Amino acid sequence: MTFKVAIIGRPNVGKSTLFNRLVGRKLALVDDTPGVTRDRRVHAAKLYDLHFDVIDTAGFEDAAASSLPGRMRAQTEIAIREADLIFFTIDAKSGLMPDDKTFAEIVRKSGKPVVVVANKAEARGAQGGMLEAWELGLGEPIPVSAEHGQGLPDLRDAVISALGEARAFGEEEEDTDEEVAASEVLIGEDITDPDAEPSYDDTKPMRIAVVGRPNAGKSTLINALIGEERLLTGPEAGITRDSISVDWDWHGRRLKLFDTAGMRRKARIHEKLEVMSVQDGLRAIRFAEIVIIVLDATIPFEKQDLQIADLIIREGRAPVIAFNKWDLIDYPQELLAELREKTERLLPQARGLQAVPVSAETGRGLDKLMDAVIRTHRVWNSRVSTGKLNRWLEGILAHHPPPAVAGRRLKIKYVTQAKTRPPGFVVSCSRPDAMPQSYVRYLSNSLREAFDMPGVPIRIALRTSE
Ligand code: GDP
Ligand code: GDP
Repeated sequence: MTFKVAIIGRPNVGKSTLFNRLVGRKLALVDDTPGVTRDRRVHAAKLYDLHFDVIDTAGFEDAAASSLPGRMRAQTEIAIREADLIFFTIDAKSGLMPDDKTFAEIVRKSGKPVVVVANKAEARGAQGGMLEAWELGLGEPIPVSAEHGQGLPDLRDAVISALGEARAFGEEEEDTDEEVAASEVLIGEDITDPDAEPSYDDTKPMRIAVVGRPNAGKSTLINALIGEERLLTGPEAGITRDSISVDWDWHGRRLKLFDTAGMRRKARIHEKLEVMSVQDGLRAIRFAEIVIIVLDATIPFEKQDLQIADLIIREGRAPVIAFNKWDLIDYPQELLAELREKTERLLPQARGLQAVPVSAETGRGLDKLMDAVIRTHRVWNSRVSTGKLNRWLEGILAHHPPPAVAGRRLKIKYVTQAKTRPPGFVVSCSRPDAMPQSYVRYLSNSLREAFDMPGVPIRIALRTSE
């Protein structure tokens, strides 16, 4: 299901120009034949990866050129009723006029989602009009130049926040998810969750799991984490257990910890037994958003540890490493430098991943560990606006453009972020098949650096530009 947009505003603000820009053809002009009814026309339109219908209201004012009410108002109301989203358009160059407020009132009464389009924003003096547009009380005005095609990336983002991702992309956009999935092996279920939160919400419990080889100190760590809070909150307060998870909070941040039966038994009576099975490990990773990998710092980085880290990254979760038993280390600074260097080298897929020395036994480093977990969770949820992405892209294209393949240069048109948790980007380009993996890796590293996204998987899907 696509959604329908009505472009509403007083005469001369640039509605037809915007309409043409979205529909991509000179339709309003082409259809401008006497006798043709132009009252309401609906046309397929596109704003980067958003596909929708636009209801054109450009003809209205011709029919009621002298004054606003009457037929024009009625037509506007019909268009609004039919629409799922309204582009309330103003002329930022001329500033607000009384008619703008009349139209705004109609729009407000409809209760429909609105994006305020501050058109002619490229014109000198448009800043004043932009500021006035706030007075309409319909939300943040998005500066756009319909005539020059400027500000469209931000308009796209505004549509998504007004409608929500699920509606903005409709069912058809499920294809995009598959493309993103196809680009990089496995994808966690969250990435295709149509109700995924567009912005970071730190009131929901963060789901974490603790994994690692037997004897690395998982149970001790969990006890230390939960036990500390227990001291603060009184016996058992704030701690609830169900079959697979334990809820508690860490200095006010709510957490849900994956808890295997084996772990729990051990956590209670401290007996020496039971390896967390591979199956449990997988379930834990799929359950969690952030996975703490506990390594015994006296015997770090065995093959199995790297396999687990790799699996976490492929599942789209973010790992945080705890170098445990740090109290046993004689030359901590030297070892930490060595271990961090190793981490970067062995796990380039999650460059910059957080690795924190801790002692589960003494409790040292646990605050830093949890800070790293929370920071990583934030990055995992991060969203970069299309405007920023495309400014970044301009720099990339200027300094390190894609190579030529078989004598023809590959072209990249634009980049959008299609998903969060973990961040997933769609790169629209000519001949995706020909794009070398090394260049995609370069884009991913550069994105990671430019937008400060250390330690989480980053997905890039290539898509053909038309
Ligand atoms: P409508 O009556 O709301 O449909 O407005 P039109 O699309 O017919 O545009 C009205 C006038 O504004 C025309 O002269 C357009 O060329 C001009 N216009 C439209 N968009 C822009 C813009 O982004 N910048 C500037 N400077 N002028 C624009
Ligand atoms: P698990 O199998 O990963 O759950 O590991 P345990 O939590 O049962 O710990 C294994 C052993 O390492 C136990 O004897 C713990 O007392 C010990 N241990 C755990 N954490 C630390 C630590 O930070 N320092 C030291 N010195 N020993 C630890």
